[in-house]
Amino acid sequence: MSEVERVSESYVPFRPGLLRFEGGRGVLVGGRCRSCGAVYFPAPEVCARCQGQDLEGVDLSGRGTVYTYTVVRQSTPEFRTPYVLVYVDLPEGVRVLGQLVGCEPEAVRVGMPVEVVFEEVARDPQGRPVVGWRFHPATEA
Ligand SMILES: [Zn+2]
Repeated sequence: MSEVERVSESYVPFRPGLLRFEGGRGVLVGGRCRSCGAVYFPAPEVCARCQGQDLEGVDLSGRGTVYTYTVVRQSTPEFRTPYVLVYVDLPEGVRVLGQLVGCEPEAVRVGMPVEVVFEEVARDPQGRPVVGWRFHPATEA
């Protein structure tokens, strides 16, 4: 059973509006300016390019490439170190921050292809899974 199948039943999104599940498939949701076409993640109230205020939700591609990264070696007690944070460029023209999993810190490279995965990151006070996104090295298409 995939991570998505496991968490799509009664999940709570990490932050409202940033992701959704459809047909067992998770999707990051950004915002596209209806005036100039600029795409953002997360969606802002106002377009930074044209100051337009008419933005629509847009599904983002689940695949991208590492723009840059850092290896976190000290953190708060709830995070096991070391872990890798990556900024990922998606084809829609947005850069998304997330944790990279499934890869040793020494193996991360700028430009490497990655894909988004949705995983339980915590439990809410009612015991429901809280779901967020992480990146995983992509298999070459
Ligand atoms: Zn705009």
